[in-house]
Amino acid sequence: MLTKTKIYLSSPHMGGLEQQYVDEAFKTNWIAPLGPNVDGFEKDIQDYLGGNKYVAALSSGTASIHLALQLLDVSQGDEVLCQSFTFSASANPIIYQGATPVFIDSERETWNMSPDLLEIAIQDRIEKYKKPKAIIAVHLYGMPYKADEINAVAKKYDIPVIEDSAEALGSTYYGKACSTLSDLGILSFNGNKIITTSGGGALISGSKSLKDRAVFLSTQARDNAPHYEHSSIGFNYRLSNVLAGIGRGQMRVLDERVAARRRNFEFYKKHLDRYNAISFLEEPQGVFCNRWITCINTESFEMREHIRLTLSEDDIETRPLWKPMHMQPVFKDHLHFTNGVSEQLFNTGLCLPSGSNLTDSDLERILENIKKSLA
Ligand SMILES: *Cc1c(COP(=O)(O)O)cnc(C)c1O
Repeated sequence: MLTKTKIYLSSPHMGGLEQQYVDEAFKTNWIAPLGPNVDGFEKDIQDYLGGNKYVAALSSGTASIHLALQLLDVSQGDEVLCQSFTFSASANPIIYQGATPVFIDSERETWNMSPDLLEIAIQDRIEKYKKPKAIIAVHLYGMPYKADEINAVAKKYDIPVIEDSAEALGSTYYGKACSTLSDLGILSFNGNKIITTSGGGALISGSKSLKDRAVFLSTQARDNAPHYEHSSIGFNYRLSNVLAGIGRGQMRVLDERVAARRRNFEFYKKHLDRYNAISFLEEPQGVFCNRWITCINTESFEMREHIRLTLSEDDIETRPLWKPMHMQPVFKDHLHFTNGVSEQLFNTGLCLPSGSNLTDSDLERILENIKKSLA
């Protein structure tokens, strides 16, 4: 009997050079959260992003968001406006800081934070409580949010923006790399992301002093003294030199990974566009999307579930779109400004397998199953 292999949503895809950098770490005994691979990886990312930003390599995207909030002095009693349609890691660090998230729904064009709702929320909070301390906007599924509009609102009220670019390395907005469009950006190198270090992240900032502060906090906040002296609370958030070696190898193939994911999107779109019941997230003017995950939107919850279950029977992994934070049990008591967009996307949308390592026959097998479910 022919056994078929499982097809995953998004699995790690090594380029071949990673092992060399990891071996180098072993040979030189740099098995620590510092060393030549960490410096080299930071330099690689900095060059990739355009050269004028500062990069601190950290242990995860979540840690990077947490440190970004620290750098902005977010603390107990503060409110942070956060995109509702996202992964929980965008919002959890707000709680770590003892602050309160306020969730903002999406607009239909990019599925990301609605600039209109953002402004309504800011005005409401200023009127009823106090000015929010920060904004966390997300380039979900690699699709850049409306950065000009979001930045204009943020600037009008003088509130800093943290740009959650965990899913958007390789995406650009009017030629500028995602993670460099606002005050502070973050990246993730978790196992399912477009490139991976198995676990890792980075904080992108506009000045050397912010980077130095982030590195200081991420390495237990040791003051300059021969003994261990502390005047701030630190964290153990620096990236390991072994894992940074994987990252250096992955940076060498990042452009290929983006191209492969975009080819997946083109394949799905070409073959499914004729079905009126299915629609795709399109690139607006001026935007280049890394197509980390190809998402479809369907006509109904029933149709989405039918596609999902048909593919699951053939051992093909798909997943409903992110469940908005304002609908999550853990955040149910938090204030939110909604318009129904993210709730509808959650009910009818589906993430299709999108790994850069999918073969032509994998794609054909997925397509056959989708067609079967639509017949
Ligand atoms: C993956 C992800 C994160 C968290 O990154 P980790 O490296 O897994 O901690 C944050 N935000 C979004 C939108 C993500 O997809």
